[in-house]
Amino acid sequence: MVIASSVPFNCHGGEEREGCLSCPWRRPRTMNSSEFRRRGKEMTDFVADYLDGIEGRQVYPDVQPGYLRSLVPSTAPEEPDAFEDIINDVERIIMPGVTHWHSPYFFAYFPSANSYPAMLADMLCGAIGCIGFSWAASPACTELETVMMDWLGKMLKLPEAFLAGEAGEGGGVIQGSASEATLMALLAARTKATRRLQAASPGLTQGAIMEKLVAYSSDQAHSSVERAGLIGGVKMKAIPSDGKFAMRGSALQEAMERDKAEGLIPFFVVATLGTTSCCSFDSLLEVGPICNKEDMWLHIDAAYAGSSFICPEFRHLLNGVEFADSFNFNPHKWLLVNFDCSAMWVKKRTDLIGAFKLDPVYLKHSHQDSGLITDYRHWQLPLGRRFRSLKMWFVFRMYGVKGLQAYIRKHVQLAHEFEYLLHQDPRFEICAEVTLGLVCFRLKGSNKLNEALLERINGTKKIHLVPCHLRDKFVLRFAICSRTVESAHVRLAWEHINQLASDLLGAEKE
Ligand SMILES: *Cc1c(COP(=O)(O)O)cnc(C)c1O
Repeated sequence: MVIASSVPFNCHGGEEREGCLSCPWRRPRTMNSSEFRRRGKEMTDFVADYLDGIEGRQVYPDVQPGYLRSLVPSTAPEEPDAFEDIINDVERIIMPGVTHWHSPYFFAYFPSANSYPAMLADMLCGAIGCIGFSWAASPACTELETVMMDWLGKMLKLPEAFLAGEAGEGGGVIQGSASEATLMALLAARTKATRRLQAASPGLTQGAIMEKLVAYSSDQAHSSVERAGLIGGVKMKAIPSDGKFAMRGSALQEAMERDKAEGLIPFFVVATLGTTSCCSFDSLLEVGPICNKEDMWLHIDAAYAGSSFICPEFRHLLNGVEFADSFNFNPHKWLLVNFDCSAMWVKKRTDLIGAFKLDPVYLKHSHQDSGLITDYRHWQLPLGRRFRSLKMWFVFRMYGVKGLQAYIRKHVQLAHEFEYLLHQDPRFEICAEVTLGLVCFRLKGSNKLNEALLERINGTKKIHLVPCHLRDKFVLRFAICSRTVESAHVRLAWEHINQLASDLLGAEKE
């Protein structure tokens, strides 16, 4: 007799019922370990085939907004679908709408890290599936993270004060994104400044203080910095950058003096190393001492450029980090650790922890806060966190520092190769100094001309670029992105751009 059951179960060879997971005449309702072994191997092949063949795919998709809705049912299936059907639908439904970020013809935004060791570690992370908000919630999750952040800090030659060591006051934490790191730093700085002012004048309310707090960043800072100010409820002012798109000490000093004269309270500065638009560098050696002298928290956002500091020849770009209270960069951009992995260090962990600490009974544990113990939930906005340090551990061990350095150097060299090709063609100009893997360029001429060029480039979809504005100029950004990009791809991209520029200029003359 077959008895219907609405939930999957296992009869272990007993009475057969509909939905049984082990009865051989039925497809399993949910994937069991033996099917997982088989499908896992198939998925590995699928992934390797995808990445091996990615060069043959059009880098940017042809679809229109809303394309996907008509390709899938309007509700989830009542009965289970077969794995084969799902995997076939990946090619039919998903791939046509994918922008292939790991194609060697993708030169847009900044790189998004991708490597096999990181993907394997992510799989293990999913399997362990712990939520590592406290040490006790999964000791290995917390401890590996602390140690990996020390490894990475040492690779960058960060000052000792940022490392956790065995009894340090500083230390690192993995955030989900640079945006979160900036927000955490701003909120911690806000609490610190508020407490300091209230200690000096006990009558002051938090509201009265917040109204007067003012933070600064360069006019080239990432939009997430302005957003942190909005979320944190404080004024955020943009300091005009200099001719090389860098924030200088004198401009910061000027703005700060003006604000102080108006009764405002400067408390927080974000310096950017490697801006998103043109990879310029704020002058840390000028800005840093001002922040220290004026008791302003200095946060450094090096989201993209930070990875390059593992190379001795680029480490000087980080000089002045000793003045900072917090420092952040994204291994998920340029250090082969798949998204998400944003590395943040603080000099005084108590500044972060002290700002947001709550200890409900259900999260207390017996080892709490006893020197060696870190409860990362106090270092971040969410409670839950994944075992992300596994990705770092696998990548750092399987590439070695030398392998990582070689990877960074290759990208920088390819950017210089593209820069060289541009230099040979008098129709083009280079719009910002090429320091790392980004080249900002344009056709000499109007913004309209350059907008038309970009439209042709992205319309043809052989390569993919995004633009930026530098002052009033419309500029094309050529970022070396893919792990597998080679000189040949850069040359093909250049020939393509060159051809489209000739077509465009020819059409203009007619
Ligand atoms: C990419 C970038 C960010 C944003 O990074 P997320 O991790 O996506 O928040 C912030 N700042 C700079 C300078 C960037 O280049």
